[in-house]
Amino acid sequence: MQYVNSLLDLIGNTPLLRLSRTLDLPEGSGDGGPLVLAKIEYLNPGGSVKDRIATRMIEAAEASGELKPGGTIVEPTSGNTGVGLAMVAQAKGYHCIFVCPDKVSEDKRNVLKAYGAEVVVCPTAVAPEHPDSYYNVSDRLSSQPGAWKPDQYSNPNNPRSHYETTGPEIWEQTDGKITHFVCGVGTGGTISGIGRYLKERAAERGGPDVKVIGADPAGSVYSGGSGRPYLVEGVGEDFWPECYDRDIADRIIEVSDADSFAFTRRLAREEALLVGGSSGMAAYAAKQLAAELAGTPEGDAAVIVVLLPDSGRGYLTKVFNDEWLAQYGFASGHETASQTVGEV
Ligand code: PMP
Repeated sequence: MQYVNSLLDLIGNTPLLRLSRTLDLPEGSGDGGPLVLAKIEYLNPGGSVKDRIATRMIEAAEASGELKPGGTIVEPTSGNTGVGLAMVAQAKGYHCIFVCPDKVSEDKRNVLKAYGAEVVVCPTAVAPEHPDSYYNVSDRLSSQPGAWKPDQYSNPNNPRSHYETTGPEIWEQTDGKITHFVCGVGTGGTISGIGRYLKERAAERGGPDVKVIGADPAGSVYSGGSGRPYLVEGVGEDFWPECYDRDIADRIIEVSDADSFAFTRRLAREEALLVGGSSGMAAYAAKQLAAELAGTPEGDAAVIVVLLPDSGRGYLTKVFNDEWLAQYGFASGHETASQTVGEV
């Protein structure tokens, strides 16, 4: 018989899927490089990449004594980290309270409630220092007795979980042949942990470096913005989180909401990959990189891995809804030019 005793044993070891139809590479570049491989994180049991950090952060807090039996986990989260934490918490008997900005879809909030968590919704249109901002509300709740705040923005176990699991998986799955790693940046945990692991392995073997490329919504600080609002969820910031290691990314590609959403829809229709808007954003950046490399000697050997953080199921009333897109002036098949804004 083949089975596991805990749902937590099913976290990680997600597959790589080759993208093909949506890359629009020139004729003749079909079988050579660049090879673009998507790491499908929605296959984690909680439905996103965040299952990985939830386990690692909770286990570390238990070990350090910060989280005691029967304690309450309080976290500001756009949903996925909440699901991961709620899942692990349920398995271990903790209570959860999540604080979400109001732009987070109702579907996502309902998922958290389904796991038995409490959800507090805060306005997006206030500064981080405002008493009602979701950072401040969660600070107040987490100062209650028995409460523990993982703080995915500053918790070193966030990038560490990727350094210890996702990074090694990608290296092994590509037999060390990965040349470029692309992912969206929110807390910075994914890019910093995976990026550092891949760069260390590349340095160890004395071969060429693995280039690490961040994808970022136009308006966010990582691509030089001031934090002005954008619609894609889970990525981009209006401040620099501690989990983001500024020495890792070789380059940041800025992607507009329009391109992110149009490409998310293409992934569903042309690759049968139903993923969220931040996955569409990252895959669009990977496609842009592949187009730049195609037809060059570097491009022939290029193995680009792009991480797709979550499923499209949480966004059926948004990205996959024509009326919702039209309300913001986006067409469902619309494409505009995104640009690279700089090397960091
Ligand atoms: N995409 C989604 C949907 C997310 O929820 C997150 C996490 N905020 C990310 C991407 C970015 O990952 P990270 O926080 O590790 O930078």
